[in-house]
Parts: sequence; C-alpha cells; structure tokens
Amino acid sequence: MGKIADILIFYVLPVMFTHSGLTLSSAISHKEDVYIEVPTMKINFYMMGKEDLDESTLHNLQLNMDYLNEEFEGKIKFTNEYYLTDNQSAYLPDIYKALLDLNDDWVDDIVSPIELQGSLNVFIFETYREEKKNAALMGFTPLLPLNQEDYGLISPEFDRMYIAYDGLKKKSTLVHEVGHFLGLKHPWEMNELKKQILGFNSKADELNNHMSYHHTVNKFTPEQLEHMRTFALKYRSYLFDETEWVAYNN
Ligand SMILES: [Zn+2]
Repeated sequence: MGKIADILIFYVLPVMFTHSGLTLSSAISHKEDVYIEVPTMKINFYMMGKEDLDESTLHNLQLNMDYLNEEFEGKIKFTNEYYLTDNQSAYLPDIYKALLDLNDDWVDDIVSPIELQGSLNVFIFETYREEKKNAALMGFTPLLPLNQEDYGLISPEFDRMYIAYDGLKKKSTLVHEVGHFLGLKHPWEMNELKKQILGFNSKADELNNHMSYHHTVNKFTPEQLEHMRTFALKYRSYLFDETEWVAYNN
C-alpha cells in the first residue's frame, strides 16, 4: 500500500504541475501587451527631532519603501532621494490641529526652511495619544480640496506628508498616505457609484483596502492603482523628471 501511494504521488504531482504550466503559458500567449506610462516619484524623508541619522529608523524607512513599491505593483515607482535630519521637534497631533485651525505659521517655520523641491517630502515626528481618543495619530497629508491643478504652481507647500515614528512600524501607514497624496479617499467618504468605479465589490474589499483603517489592510484595487497613476501624471507630474513606458499583459 505504501509503495502504491508513493508511486501515485510521485506520478500525479508532476502531471499537475505540467498541466498548470501549460494553462499559464497558453493564457499569456492570447493576451496582448499594453503599454502604460509609469512615473517614478522621488521621496525625501526628514527625521525631525534628531541630531544624527538613526539606524533603526533608516532600516524601517527602507522596509517601508520596499512595501510601498510592492503595493503599487509597478504602476508607479518610488525612489528614495535624501534622508535628512533636523533637531527641531514637535508632535504630530499638535501639527494637525494647527493646520486645521489655520494657526500653522510655526509649522511652516519648522518645515519650509529645510524642504527640498521636486520630491514628496515626508516629515517624521513623534506622536502621542490624546485624551478621549483610543489611538494616536500616525500620519496625515494636507491636500487641496479643489483646484488640484494648482499643486504644481504652489509647490512645495502641498508636497508635504506627516508621519509619526511609530507609524513607520506599520508599513501600511505610508502606503495609505501616499494613496491620499495621489487622489484617493477613504471608502466611507465615497458614494456607492464611486466605490463601484474604484473596484469595491464587497464589504471585504473595503475592509482589506489600504484606504480603510482596518487592521487587515493589504491591497489596492486595480482601479485605484490606475486612478492614482493617471492622477500622478495629471496633477503631480512636476514631481518626476521622467516616466517610462512599460508593457503589461492585460
Ligand atoms: Zn486617511
């Protein structure tokens, strides 16, 4: 019995692999290459409240960049340009409140003298949990509600993103904020039609999507990726020097 089972497994498995291999190659041969324009966006990271580059944050940032590129599946590419440090410190919830209250001159005094033009500038600060809130603020991205064509004109003011050091431990924080930077909203901010257009077909699609707050987030829909790619080419083109045309089997 043992021998027959061994033989069966030995014989059956290669057949299954061969079969699936055939299916895959025949499926690809029927598809046509579609060329899409892929922008590459540069990112600078500013480690605030630090005198020197700190190894563990650097390592975390590299992991975050790898994950960001994975999750965009080659539709947009991200490269790291500079890591900078600055000893001025502030707390993320205070910055957020100041921007909301239009009382943000002090924030501008901290970030504008050091920010570079032509890249997405990610400022990393410490955070804290505010009273009566069950979680600390981990990141946010100031955006223009309308007139997105003005991003290039007023650059670099709206090329800023704020992330907490603790927010880098969960690699999805940066991905979520880049989603906002490239025109995506939270699922709960969209009507049913908009959700359908962006490829949300079920509640699970929403819960697992990078633009929700759920702990299981792990993907963008293909429609979101395409939306961000065209948004980047249209409204954030001043942030990349070059694009490349890449073939996709669609
Ligand atoms: Zn958000």
